Amino acid sequence: MGNIVAIVGRPNVGKSTFFNRLIQRREAIIDSVSGVTRDRHYGKSDWNGKRFSLIDTGGYVKGSDDIFEEEIDKQVELAIEEADAIIFMVDVESGVTSMDEEVANLLRRVNKPVLLAVNKVDNNKRLANAVEFYSLGLGDYFPIASTNGSGTGDLLDALIEALPEVEDDEESELPRFAVVGRPNAGKSSFINALIGEDRYIVTDIAGTTRDSIDTRYNRFGFEFNLVDTAGIRRKSKVKENLEFYSVMRSVRAIENADVCLLVLDATRGFDGQVQNIFWLAQRNNKGIVILVNKWDLVDKETNTMKEYEAVIRREIEPFTDVPIIFISVLNKQRVFKAIETAVKVFESRSKKIKTRQLNDVMLPIIEKNPPPAYKGKFVKIKFCMQLPTPHPQFAFFCNLPQYVRDPYKRFIENKLRQEFDFQGVPISIFFRKK
Ligand code: GDP
Ligand code: GDP
Repeated sequence: MGNIVAIVGRPNVGKSTFFNRLIQRREAIIDSVSGVTRDRHYGKSDWNGKRFSLIDTGGYVKGSDDIFEEEIDKQVELAIEEADAIIFMVDVESGVTSMDEEVANLLRRVNKPVLLAVNKVDNNKRLANAVEFYSLGLGDYFPIASTNGSGTGDLLDALIEALPEVEDDEESELPRFAVVGRPNAGKSSFINALIGEDRYIVTDIAGTTRDSIDTRYNRFGFEFNLVDTAGIRRKSKVKENLEFYSVMRSVRAIENADVCLLVLDATRGFDGQVQNIFWLAQRNNKGIVILVNKWDLVDKETNTMKEYEAVIRREIEPFTDVPIIFISVLNKQRVFKAIETAVKVFESRSKKIKTRQLNDVMLPIIEKNPPPAYKGKFVKIKFCMQLPTPHPQFAFFCNLPQYVRDPYKRFIENKLRQEFDFQGVPISIFFRKK
């Protein structure tokens, strides 16, 4: 987990085609840079059991070749800074272009695995033509055809081979809390407030993952790693990509986290970018705590907090069972409550309900409210169990699983939440044939 692979190359070489072939699920990352909305694509893939995230950094380099000149540095720089390996894609149909050479110049200096993929090699003639790409000085290349997948297996074998091992040290065994959110939401301040005041800190470990600062932390008799996603952006040379960097950093931190503390600036609200991060965490089945920071800046009347909370809950439907805490890092208000809540969410996410207890509670509820008949058929749920997965998943065994509709699944989920407390924890429910 945690490895990021970036695809770079000029427009129309086939990056998106390749990307779409590989990923199981597409996550568009919307990046609003000075009013422009760009789509970059991020998805997950695995090959021979090794998982990695794939970004098509070129998603935004559309249009004519002359805009490319200035965009290319940025695109490659982004890949160099963020990725663990880079796939540089070129097109055998057009042959080596000056832009390919320019990219190759940048990539030759990189200290990360670079795999040269010569795309659109659909026939033997093109296979012979591909030889000219040796001139890029990047060594062996991989002839592929993204449209039919030929050659991609060899490329992926080499990619997996080249990816760094994801560290499996002692620290990574500790629960990981990621502090995520937009730039300036107050993430660093939040972490500083915790660290500055607390006597229980064990050590500072710079860069357990390369680009975030992990702080080992001990509170309430509970030890965990705090993952700061704010630090690195200050080093970034590409100012326009600041927002995108912060999202990318969030992506990586979220994937490696158990619980995400989503910090937002109360004066800016739960806007689109914050929502992106929220749903990323939810889809990755991570525990979530929403921290509305800078509450000191908001003019308050009797119901301000309630109303603010209601607005957020509407945005996060149907996953509304999430703790929302109003904090002010500046005034040290509820900062520790935030951590306490994260610990609680972590524990809920890890808990395993015994099959006996689960059935004792759920079967009477189901008996009182059975699934409605569908197409004249009656669904009989016989028993249920929690699956032995890192995050809560439940299987309900019945005669006709295909007839259980979404509203009933939601009903079951709500009951599970009421009875067993999964606040802040995404849960999955499956109906299986028995
Ligand atoms: P991107 O701009 O680099 O993302 O390129 P796209 O993935 O949008 O592909 C550009 C064009 O090349 C599309 O018309 C694709 O259908 C075509 N293309 C992509 N891969 C192949 C391939 O393996 N063989 C051929 N002949 N065409 C391809
Ligand atoms: P990050 O980019 O998310 O790490 O945000 P920072 O921690 O750097 O904070 C951004 C700005 O918001 C800084 O000027 C902080 O002093 C300020 N800030 C952080 N928390 C609060 C708060 O609770 N109240 C107020 N008024 N300002 C805050």
